Amino acid sequence: MVSQPAISDLDRMLRPEEARAIIFSRLQALPSEAVALGDAAWRVLAHELVALENHPPFEASTMDGYAVVADDPSPWREIVGRQTAGHVEVFVVELGTAAWITTGAPLPQGATAVVPVEATELAEDHVIIRQERVEPGDNIRPVGVDLARGTVALTAGTIIGSAEIGVLAGLGIDPVTVVRKPRISVLSTGNELVEPRELPGPGQIRDSNRFSLISAAIEAGAEVVWAGHGPDDLGELRATLIVRIAESDVVITSGGVSMGDLDLIKPLLGELADVHFRRVLMKPGKPFNFATSSETLIFSLPGNPVSALVGFEIFVRPALRHMLGANVIDRPRLPVRLEAAVRPSDRIEFQRAVVRVADTGELVARPTGTQASSRLASLVGANALVEIPPGSAEIPAGARLEALMIGPLASF
Ligand code: AMP
Ligand code: MG
Repeated sequence: MVSQPAISDLDRMLRPEEARAIIFSRLQALPSEAVALGDAAWRVLAHELVALENHPPFEASTMDGYAVVADDPSPWREIVGRQTAGHVEVFVVELGTAAWITTGAPLPQGATAVVPVEATELAEDHVIIRQERVEPGDNIRPVGVDLARGTVALTAGTIIGSAEIGVLAGLGIDPVTVVRKPRISVLSTGNELVEPRELPGPGQIRDSNRFSLISAAIEAGAEVVWAGHGPDDLGELRATLIVRIAESDVVITSGGVSMGDLDLIKPLLGELADVHFRRVLMKPGKPFNFATSSETLIFSLPGNPVSALVGFEIFVRPALRHMLGANVIDRPRLPVRLEAAVRPSDRIEFQRAVVRVADTGELVARPTGTQASSRLASLVGANALVEIPPGSAEIPAGARLEALMIGPLASF
């Protein structure tokens, strides 16, 4: 028998911060796994990485030119050798001599500077240095200038982007130990749902949430191990949920959490898991059930497409990023100026908007039209959820509010 908080407690409307705190208190770190360097992009580094060698490992030229002794008074130098990248000759540069050197080639013994070829003139087996002063160290890349041995190259939780993967490659880290992706199942529920490639019959609609939520989960760094839709049938949903809970780190459902007698996810969660809350004081997405069953997290989102995606954005995405141990969990919040007046509701509202940089340099938010929670078009092209605080008085155009950036800034 799972212990349940009292019903009145479960149905209490939580503020989004309270709901987030409850979710975060239930999160467990995921184990790590080794992946080939080539597959490590956009994964989360599991451990701090200390450079075990200097990078670069040898003193090298940063120019094509001549390796010389810096404080040689004579401009005439006898050419005593050639040093090209990846090829090491053994010779010594001393006063009165120089060696041809290419970018990235190791500095020959005795040389203390490189003079770029543009500042020289070739005269048979000699080179004439046409540069007033040559200082020791000129055009030389010192050992360990990128990364000195023993220093932290990348911290645990680093998201491995293109620069980071380059650092890993440069330090010879292959395979790379990353945090395992959370394994996710996505179940959309509703008797009215048909597959996108099917022709809906009377009263039927195509299941869009499953595909929206799959994409959102992948973008958040998860691996979708199963996805499907099920009818509003207690037996079928129960059978599916039991297996999905057993085989997933996270189960995401859509639909069936409202007050109708076919809203079966709500009672089923009560039967199969520990329910922590059912309602959040926000718009859209007020019915939002969060439950756990041993290690598995269950997020049950409402069926309206915008409510489902906004609920994912506000709660599920940060939870997944936190489980992944990512250094950055939340999307940025930016101050924006409202382009048009808005009428707040009794709950915090996440208005879909396009935030752009205005001529004044300020960020301006333009809502994406009608904000009905069934209108997926309000999210299409939106790069922000503008937080409209609850209240009764109209918020005038020009007011400053916060926006959660869900996409890149627009610049038109
Ligand atoms: P529910 O939360 O189950 O009461 O559903 C609320 C609204 O969202 C209804 O109009 C449903 O038809 C619609 N809906 C539910 N699930 C989906 C889905 N997977 N894709 C698109 N719309 C859905
Ligand atoms: Mg339904």
